[in-house]
Amino acid sequence: MSIVVAGAGIGGLTTALSLHAAGVGDVTVLEAAAAFRPLGVGLNILPNAVRELAELGLLEELSKVSVPTGSLGYYNRHGQLIWHEPRGRAAGYRWPQLSIHRGRLQAVLADAVRERLGPDAIVDDSRVEDFEQLPDGRVRVRHAAAGGASHTEADALIGADGIRSAVRAALHPAEGPPPWNGLIVWRGTTWASPFLDGHTMIIAGDDRRRAVVYPMSGPRPQDGAVLINWAVARAARPGETIETADWNRSVAPDEFLGDFTDLDFDWLDVPALIRTSDEAFIYPMVDRDPLPRWTHGAVTLLGDAAHAMYPMGSNGATQAIMDARVLARELALRPDPRAALAGYETARLSALTELHKSTRRRGPEVVIDLAHQRAPAGFRTADEVFPGTELHDISADFARLGGFDPDLVNHRASYSVDARTADAPTADVGTEALA
Ligand SMILES: Cc1cc2nc3c(=O)[nH]c(=O)nc-3n(C[C@H](O)[C@H](O)[C@H](O)COP(=O)(O)OP(=O)(O)OC[C@H]3O[C@@H](n4cnc5c(N)ncnc54)[C@H](O)[C@@H]3O)c2cc1C
Repeated sequence: MSIVVAGAGIGGLTTALSLHAAGVGDVTVLEAAAAFRPLGVGLNILPNAVRELAELGLLEELSKVSVPTGSLGYYNRHGQLIWHEPRGRAAGYRWPQLSIHRGRLQAVLADAVRERLGPDAIVDDSRVEDFEQLPDGRVRVRHAAAGGASHTEADALIGADGIRSAVRAALHPAEGPPPWNGLIVWRGTTWASPFLDGHTMIIAGDDRRRAVVYPMSGPRPQDGAVLINWAVARAARPGETIETADWNRSVAPDEFLGDFTDLDFDWLDVPALIRTSDEAFIYPMVDRDPLPRWTHGAVTLLGDAAHAMYPMGSNGATQAIMDARVLARELALRPDPRAALAGYETARLSALTELHKSTRRRGPEVVIDLAHQRAPAGFRTADEVFPGTELHDISADFARLGGFDPDLVNHRASYSVDARTADAPTADVGTEALA
């Protein structure tokens, strides 16, 4: 079976590795970028997806370039703790949650693809433009490079080409750019002293602003500083717009620092992190509207191309990895690629749509809005403003929606397929939703 994957991002590369591990032979990844550059800043991979990367034999390599996230704390604008919970192994998962630079994650995946599938498995400078479904059930993919346009025919095309996916645009030509919710996000990294216990992610703010901060490295030998990822967001002012959702648009910290100077707590100085960062990037808070279908014949969508969500609850890379594993399993176990792509959609789409809806209601970060509405001047303890089990329930509901409830992650069957027995049909493939 021949598969073309559009996009060598997190989802596309994990798809290639998973197909190879499952014995699906002929996989080509077409990447628009002319050469690999470790782009982006930090992201988190939840334990359900770390389990999948571990099953691909990558956990040791990833552990060298990441930090296991040990806990997550939500704070109000005064730096008072609203909710704190253990994460990863500390929360009873058999796998850690990882804080990692996106570029490092992508490099580990790309190196593994080249080593396992061959040096030519990823074709750089190859932008997928559109495709044609052929009468024999195959697909002809048109792609452009500096040297001109060319075609590749395959049994299936996987559109893993991100939030501005060309494959999605070919399926939905009237859709237009990703919708913006009116928030602007600035992101960056800074070498600084560790904060709290050195393994905590914090999210702090009020009804208008957010700061998300976590470490992505251990201490460096010369001064003990760790690489800290930070992102701050606020509502745009009237008339303030961002033209395109470009992950790499850099800006000077002075341009936005003034809106976050009060987020200086006795346990973490957010404005100091911004002020001393090497580089900062601006990005509009955009997502994609949910689609009723991802699969059309021999073509499907995966990761952000299928279900881009606001960066909330660590689901971007996590769900792209889960998509890749479920899709590869389907392709390995079903002889008809079209049936496999349909089975993948059945397994994933409705649950992802529910998760997506939750992120539009601010997901688990809603506790920060609620704290601000109920006690704008602050509180002595969060119990005063959150009675009973409300905070626990918000967190547990989101874990269930995202398929990362500890019991499920620890005990569900593996998605790995033994390449030697991959032709054995299975009745239950495609029924596990987000597991
Ligand atoms: C440059 C960049 C920086 C990012 N930085 C962050 C970050 O700091 N924090 C964060 O949480 N998320 C970041 N993201 C998004 C994050 O990677 C995704 O939300 C998540 O990992 C899901 O991955 P994905 O594989 O679906 O998409 P992506 O990781 O976006 O990968 C899509 C890939 O497809 C390629 N591509 C695009 N169009 C075409 C085409 N027509 N033909 C072929 N290839 C194409 C892109 O170059 C990219 O390599 C970034 C994405 C990109 C592309």
